[in-house]
Amino acid sequence: MEKKNLDWANIGFGYHQTDLRYVSNYKDGAWDEGTLTPDATITLNECAGVLQYAQTVFEGLKAYTTVDGHIVTFRPDLNAERMESSAKRLEMPVFPKERFVDAIIQTVKANAAYVPPYGSGATLYIRPYMFGTNPVIGVKPASEYQFRVFTTPVGPYFKEGANPIVIKVSDFDRAAPHGTGHIKAGLNYAMSLHAIVTAHAEGFEENMYLDAATRTKVEETGGANFIFITKDNKLVTPKSDSILPSITRRSIVYVAKEYLGMEVEERPVYFDEVKDFAECGLCGTAAVISPVGKINDHGHEICFPSGMEAMGPVTKKLYDTLTGIQMGLIEAPEGWIQVIE
Ligand SMILES: *Cc1c(COP(=O)(O)O)cnc(C)c1O
Repeated sequence: MEKKNLDWANIGFGYHQTDLRYVSNYKDGAWDEGTLTPDATITLNECAGVLQYAQTVFEGLKAYTTVDGHIVTFRPDLNAERMESSAKRLEMPVFPKERFVDAIIQTVKANAAYVPPYGSGATLYIRPYMFGTNPVIGVKPASEYQFRVFTTPVGPYFKEGANPIVIKVSDFDRAAPHGTGHIKAGLNYAMSLHAIVTAHAEGFEENMYLDAATRTKVEETGGANFIFITKDNKLVTPKSDSILPSITRRSIVYVAKEYLGMEVEERPVYFDEVKDFAECGLCGTAAVISPVGKINDHGHEICFPSGMEAMGPVTKKLYDTLTGIQMGLIEAPEGWIQVIE
């Protein structure tokens, strides 16, 4: 198969239309058989549930080329399970796990020419999502839905090395207790836009959200979970019912314990203790881990000893081990790598 002639190093993170996408429709209580289509346009009724009441959930994962030339994805079964819990919370039907994984395999295979080569640092980003399609004007769940998967090639997250970022403690809340912070839904992002635009205008790259009820505990950023490293090399990561269960964070916890023999604490993390940590990072599919060098709390700076030049040493070890597993350089735990071709 001939690869597309793209400038892999410089495509950035934007939408670049690929050849085929997967579509399945839900009607009368059942999903149809699903198909690949060249049509990237969706035509919807003006009163569709998704347009009126934001009934939509999504996932994000990547396909990439391993060192031995296979096209693979990383733990798509966990994306399927997470989308199931997101859908249930928004009263949407579940797209079955086996079909979800199959839809991803079909879509990536159909766009294999867009999967960047090993070593380019670029990947094929995969976006599964589902939304209510039939007209809904009285507030209630839609009765018809569409599930889609499209792909778009994205450039390397870190172009000039993983430079630590500066973030701020946000004055906005991300998620309420017993709300929807734990699901991957567009609604959580719509309300975060004002907070991130504000943070960017002030010169910060991300927001650290605290728990909405007490503003004493660390939650997450708009799209990534936190990890911290203590001065005695333990991994600490916030546990909360209102953060999104990041697959990257869960994989890092496993890698820390099982590959690096580290002690791991998954527990509430008070903002007061953040100043005592040695390293801080943000984890999510896009960057795997972005190091945080500084946190600005209303003008007061917390500067991690790992500094602003490079990823902290323990974070780097976690990053290298997890990306090594993903790329086929280090043996993966059973079931983590889904070979596509
Ligand atoms: C998607 C997402 C993450 C990261 O999850 P991964 O599965 O690691 O990509 C973290 N926080 C939020 C709010 C997210 O939407």
